[in-house]
Amino acid sequence: MSTPRTIWVFGDQLNTALGAFADADPGRDVVLIVESRRKIDSRPWHRQRVHFLLSSMRHFARDLQERGFTVDYRVAPTMAAGLEAHRGEFSPGEVTASEPNSHAARALVERLGVRTVPSGQFLTTSGDFAAWAGTRKSLKMEDFYRRQRVRLGYLMDGGEPVGGQWNFDHDNREAPPKGGQYPWPTPPMSVLDDIDETVIGALPDSAVGAMPTGQWATTRADALVRLRHFVDKVLPMFGPHEDAMLSDNWHLAHSILSPYMNNGLLLPGEVCDAVQRAFDAGSVPVASAEGFIRQVIGWREYVWGLYWLWGPDYASMNELSAVRALPPVFTDPSSSAMACMRSCVGDVHDRAWTHHIPRLMVMGNLALIAGVDPRTMTNWMWEMFVDAAEWVMVPNVVGMSLHADGGMMATKPYAGGGAYIDRMSNHCKGCRYDRKKRTGDDACPFTTLYWDFLLRHDERFVRNPRMSTQVRAAQKLPDTGAVRDRAAEVLRLLDSGRL
Ligand code: SF4
Repeated sequence: MSTPRTIWVFGDQLNTALGAFADADPGRDVVLIVESRRKIDSRPWHRQRVHFLLSSMRHFARDLQERGFTVDYRVAPTMAAGLEAHRGEFSPGEVTASEPNSHAARALVERLGVRTVPSGQFLTTSGDFAAWAGTRKSLKMEDFYRRQRVRLGYLMDGGEPVGGQWNFDHDNREAPPKGGQYPWPTPPMSVLDDIDETVIGALPDSAVGAMPTGQWATTRADALVRLRHFVDKVLPMFGPHEDAMLSDNWHLAHSILSPYMNNGLLLPGEVCDAVQRAFDAGSVPVASAEGFIRQVIGWREYVWGLYWLWGPDYASMNELSAVRALPPVFTDPSSSAMACMRSCVGDVHDRAWTHHIPRLMVMGNLALIAGVDPRTMTNWMWEMFVDAAEWVMVPNVVGMSLHADGGMMATKPYAGGGAYIDRMSNHCKGCRYDRKKRTGDDACPFTTLYWDFLLRHDERFVRNPRMSTQVRAAQKLPDTGAVRDRAAEVLRLLDSGRL
């Protein structure tokens, strides 16, 4: 009989197609899964996030047992303690893991003598990305995306993109539809089972947010149902309203598949294959298929590559010297008069999820123009979102949202005033503030802080060709003193939870 071997599976690698399972033998190998109490208790996680991750891990363990594997599922003080206890009990000849998805986890497995193998969880390895980046003067996402299209063959007609163009993004920036009758189907729900209920019963006291409802699938079978639902019923409508926000519809035509791709229940290749098949069958317009595939093989893989390329120190960058603590409106928006924040943070509370525009252009935007410390904001997003992972949150918050990397990732900061939010949402209609005003008690805080942000950082951004027009416009305002005074007042109110 061959030597027993352990396959160590991390909570974001829940898929037997990953590298460590390549030659797995249920009659020989033991699968180790560790729940680290230190990790679970370390932060005020959103309840639905903790539940989604732990319940998915436990369901995955059950699925493996049903396939004949011996599974050692341990609740341990730390990951290292879990492995040590496992080694003491099972004496494996070797412990193997698919390459973990964070700097810290890769350092951990190396320190603990775990053999790692390529994972296959992403379509691009960190080495592939570094090789591409090494040949470039600038790391434009669009260039990377086109290379991915050619390399992976999605939506290609020989060497050319189907539909004659690479990118249909300009078709995908429509304002929200008017009226309350929206065409997008309600996302499927799961019935909570015994495993879900056990996890709910043991949620940490420190957790926050609404209780799990079945919104998030915790098995691969249910995640596949979500994929089918998206491709069949939502994808044909995906695209035009991708950037729109509605206070009375949280999902619009978004796929809501990121949690499953990020914890391994779904793999990006199978998701894109399903979209390609639907396009080939003629049931999806090219702009919808392209818009979605770009998010997965372009943006998602690009962010993954940058996380590895720029290393662990990138997370600590703070080029704009932003030091503000997280304002109370991020943790309790109920008494805020800012309708947009009430809606967006309320959605986070209810489901641990919003789509990318509330993240970037409302919550991230407020953090940027108010000068919230990037590490604090990264941590909040990491704690609150069901699909969060370090690799996705660090580049998206530090680079894209807060410009704390000084422009390594995005050539301009994504700062906006009330006019943008009004154009792309229905939030401003019922708001106590006036999106057009930058001074006065009823001035929109976004508008005031937007102009103040430009004035605060005018020397830096006036040199930026994508920002200089706005900065010069700010410098020429007739009331810069009043804007600065109102901004100081807004920041005081924001800090004290009275905005
Ligand atoms: Fe938000 Fe300003 Fe619009 Fe109110 S007016 S919803 S604060 S952007």
